[in-house]
Amino acid sequence: MRTLVVDHPLVAHKLTTLRDAASDTATFRSLTAELVALLAYEATREMRVQPVSVTTPVAVASGVKLARPVPLVVPVLRAGIGMLEGMTQLLPMADVGFVGMVRDEESLVASTYADRLPTDLTGREAFVLDPMLATGGTLATVISMLAGRGAAAITAICLLAAPEGIRHLEETFPGDGPPTVRVVTASVDERLNDKGYIVPGLGDAGDRLFGKI
Ligand code: URA
Repeated sequence: MRTLVVDHPLVAHKLTTLRDAASDTATFRSLTAELVALLAYEATREMRVQPVSVTTPVAVASGVKLARPVPLVVPVLRAGIGMLEGMTQLLPMADVGFVGMVRDEESLVASTYADRLPTDLTGREAFVLDPMLATGGTLATVISMLAGRGAAAITAICLLAAPEGIRHLEETFPGDGPPTVRVVTASVDERLNDKGYIVPGLGDAGDRLFGKI
């Protein structure tokens, strides 16, 4: 398992405004989309391409196009939905699957309530969208589901991560693959608190994106 912390002034600027408790829902949503697009730019760096040639108005040019099959993007319900727009801006051709996970607030253990994923992912690249990598339980479950269906490479895109969550994923997916497993995030914060929130974090990402329900 590899972790990439994207070190870029625009990423740091947008993340700082996201963290600010004074940022309202509209600001939080649009900044999330912008930040995800920047993280996705790095997360897609190793995507497979195949050579093609095109005819320009002047001559024939060699180029590439993304290899088939198309990638799968998997937002983890509920908060991952807030990251979908930013991701599909970069990958409009991607298929989208959904996984619903709910976390027991006492035990912090996550269980699956929705699974809308293709049964066969042989050779495909998958991008999991989950804003907060906290204990790592949710992501470990979703990554295992994708790996069990044959995904070749799985990249989790998270706005923020806790060291505890990164460690959990490193222990669960210790090798180099297949599948290759990566986390791309804007920051690895200090720690989790006793309620399972990332410190300093940004609070409950689902509530900040969609309101408290
Ligand atoms: N989920 C959140 O929304 N925020 C955290 O800090 C941890 C998990």
